[in-house]
Amino acid sequence: MKAAVYHGPRDIRIEQVLEPQIKGNRVLVEFRSGSICGTDLHFYRGEWKWLKKGRILGHDACGRREDTGERVVMVPTVNCGHCYFCLRGLPTYCTRGKFYGMTRDGFFMERKAMQPRNLIPITSDISDEEAAVVEPVALALRVLNHFQPNVGDWITILGQGAIGLLMTQVALMKGCRVIAADLLDYRLELAKKYGADAAVNPNREDIIKVVRQLTKIGSNFVIEAAGTTQTVEQTPFLVRKVGKVALVGESQGYLNLEDADEAQFFTVYLSPIEYPAAVDLIERKLVDVKGLITHKFKFDEFQKALQTADNPAEKPLRVIITQ
Ligand SMILES: [Zn+2]
Ligand SMILES: [Zn+2]
Repeated sequence: MKAAVYHGPRDIRIEQVLEPQIKGNRVLVEFRSGSICGTDLHFYRGEWKWLKKGRILGHDACGRREDTGERVVMVPTVNCGHCYFCLRGLPTYCTRGKFYGMTRDGFFMERKAMQPRNLIPITSDISDEEAAVVEPVALALRVLNHFQPNVGDWITILGQGAIGLLMTQVALMKGCRVIAADLLDYRLELAKKYGADAAVNPNREDIIKVVRQLTKIGSNFVIEAAGTTQTVEQTPFLVRKVGKVALVGESQGYLNLEDADEAQFFTVYLSPIEYPAAVDLIERKLVDVKGLITHKFKFDEFQKALQTADNPAEKPLRVIITQ
């Protein structure tokens, strides 16, 4: 069977691999659709070099269970259940945790053996393609659940890629006012379409000035979803005193905290906890992931899919792979 195998930067190939072995209570899941994430692009561009050669990529995908015939979303994390963090109900931080598509072979293969507990059945209300864009919804829910905003609170979101645009959607659903920032206008257009109160292109306007004008005393919450140290370093100047800043895209940078009185800064990573709620939101059409799918490719065109996702001229948001 075929799989997308990492051989190094700019060298990810579709090649033949061995069929998966069904051990224990694992079940076979046939790949239906998956999406390329910013993480995959970090590996592709050679920005993250720690990925093992021979590793199969992919951590946002859906498939069909061979035993029951159900269509399922595959959850990409596995936790041990008995380490320090697992025992405290914090599986996200499991010290022995595994992540499919990074520390274990991922989902971009024709068939995968999976533990049933990592599979979320979906109804016919959700298409294969929508079910391939669950991870950024889960991440958006996680960040907003951390913030616990009140209706009318200001949220400034730096970066309006697929992840930032989903943060915008979920923040609006929570009754917040959103200031969306991105260097690419096509993304700002979408943020406005989803209802963002302000859409700022920092190439043309000073984001710090705009946020201070609109919010008077700074944004209640700030999300860094652009993935640059420069945007990380802007966050203390955007947040109000006692506000909260979530670093989602990038965690490195120098934080000048001089004026950020008692504001909280934290990193947020993906967790399995929000997956069922994320699937539910997509199913009930409360968040739009369809509008974020800009390109679709067949499994054999994986190379082209990566090149497209990596090419700003193509205006990519989420690039989908289908069987
Ligand atoms: Zn991802
Ligand atoms: Zn654990």
